[in-house]
Amino acid sequence: MTAPAYQNSPTRGARKWSPEVESGGISQFSPVSGGTAWRGKSSLTSIPKGAGYNRQNMERTLAIIKPDAVERKFAGQIIQRIEEAGFRVAAMRLVTLSKPVAEGFYAVHRERPFFPHLTAFMSSGPAVVMVLETDGAIKKWRDLMGATDPAKAAPGTLRAAFGSGIERNATHGSDAPDTAAFEIGYFFPGVDLV
Ligand code: ATP
Ligand code: MG
Repeated sequence: MTAPAYQNSPTRGARKWSPEVESGGISQFSPVSGGTAWRGKSSLTSIPKGAGYNRQNMERTLAIIKPDAVERKFAGQIIQRIEEAGFRVAAMRLVTLSKPVAEGFYAVHRERPFFPHLTAFMSSGPAVVMVLETDGAIKKWRDLMGATDPAKAAPGTLRAAFGSGIERNATHGSDAPDTAAFEIGYFFPGVDLV
């Protein structure tokens, strides 16, 4: 695994939190500051300025390894791809969604004809729900996943490699900062994402 540059910093963890550090700290970069999961402070606030870690571009996204991929034992390979691509896994849960929870998560698609089947599929077995963090995480994760339909996804993408149909497409990713904030708060309410 290639660790993000900021994790290699010799100064990581070397300084305690202070108002000076906080003034340039994580509370100013978070795209999820409106989300219920965000508290504005985490261990990242101890990283001083000039440590090679550009907080201004940091972003978080909600990723799911869907029940089809977990059932087919692809979760390990997908997490390895995530780490190799340079994401930091800020939070992770293995959950079997209830039907109402799946319906709430995909509420934006409530009127779509595939909604009942999609939410039945998403609640059919365990899924791995993660918060991924890196520069431009939302787009970077969607690029790594590939197109919604695995048959149309570019070679080398996760959906091309692990998806088996337009519904059973292995992974989910937030599509914008506001949906990322909603989705992270949906699965990690009140959690400090260190
Ligand atoms: P996701 O939101 O899961 O990351 P996406 O943003 O690529 O996927 P959406 O249009 O948001 O695609 O669709 C949500 C999910 O609904 C898809 O990932 C897929 O599982 C399912 N889906 C989308 N289109 C269809 C369809 N035509 N038939 C069946 N299922 C579909
Ligand atoms: Mg979507």
